[in-house]
Amino acid sequence: MRAGRRNCVAPDHNGEDMTYRKIVGFGVAMTALLLNAAAAGGAGNPVAIAIHGGAGVIDRVQMTADRERAYREALAAALDAGYSILESGGSSVDAVTAAVRTMEDDPLFNAGKGAVLNHEGAAELDAALMDGNGPRAGAVAGVRHVKNPIELARLVMERSPHVMLVGEGAEEFALEQQVVLVPNSYFRTERRRLDLEREIQEERNQQKPTPVTGTGTVGAVALDRAGNLAAATSTGGLTNKRHGRVGDSPIIGSGTYANNESCAVSATGQGEFFIRSVVAYDICALVNYRHLSLDAAVHEVIQVKLKRLGGEGGVIAIDHAGRISLDFNSEGMFRGARDSHGRREISIWRDNP
Ligand code: ASP
Repeated sequence: MRAGRRNCVAPDHNGEDMTYRKIVGFGVAMTALLLNAAAAGGAGNPVAIAIHGGAGVIDRVQMTADRERAYREALAAALDAGYSILESGGSSVDAVTAAVRTMEDDPLFNAGKGAVLNHEGAAELDAALMDGNGPRAGAVAGVRHVKNPIELARLVMERSPHVMLVGEGAEEFALEQQVVLVPNSYFRTERRRLDLEREIQEERNQQKPTPVTGTGTVGAVALDRAGNLAAATSTGGLTNKRHGRVGDSPIIGSGTYANNESCAVSATGQGEFFIRSVVAYDICALVNYRHLSLDAAVHEVIQVKLKRLGGEGGVIAIDHAGRISLDFNSEGMFRGARDSHGRREISIWRDNP
């Protein structure tokens, strides 16, 4: 073999075959090139997503086996819709939009179809999306006819110079952007009508307003291959809320926040407490300035600060390494997490995965 090679090429000064060395050199160069290209596209980088479907009192007695199965399946569908986008190299913004839209279309959750009703019996929806790359953000509040408020929030971010649009102005923008509009009756379900009836009765008995969390606000946070974080939240707010009331979900920094320098967070719970505590930003600030781990920052805000004020609820959060934190100080939180290390889980209560 060696003699044969020597027959067709000139030997170098060491008596080595030049063509052989060139081939090896070419191979090494090509491998380096391919590795660089893969690194640039982030092919080997981790991806991860977490979702929630609301926190609060999730009564185990009322939760029949069928109902629990339905929740778990709905959460899995949303989780996988987002994860498949990340897995095929899509952006975290696309992933959180897909996960939240999936839950908005499912009447089990308090977002989009199946949203809770305000005191007058109407659905008024809030949503926000934040791209940690920028960062940039979009939000809508008090919309009554937008089928998927998360899509409108995204359009506010991408196609308007603003961060937040509310009520009629938001719906005018929705019309311009040709998003799907529906009559308010599309959102209303029998279950939510009964919830409202019960709360109004309670209010009469107690002689004071009783807006309550409907359990079922939805949210998602994700990390994509390019290292970008995103967060999205969508809700109908509180059952029996006053017309015009806006919760924490669409407030950037309270219910929704993402910044590539720290983390991405989506919250659920009693919005007024989350607004006063600026929960989502506070968690990211603890990561950014005090260099707390994501778990420690979430614990500090949800289990210590929020609790001290009497606020109930939880968050899902993710950092630049794809570490996920799912924490709540309420009885339960519908939630799910999936990552490229093989983690895939859906949980409802603390002690029962
Ligand atoms: N945080 C939402 C709000 O106050 C409600 C919820 O998460 O259940 O509007």
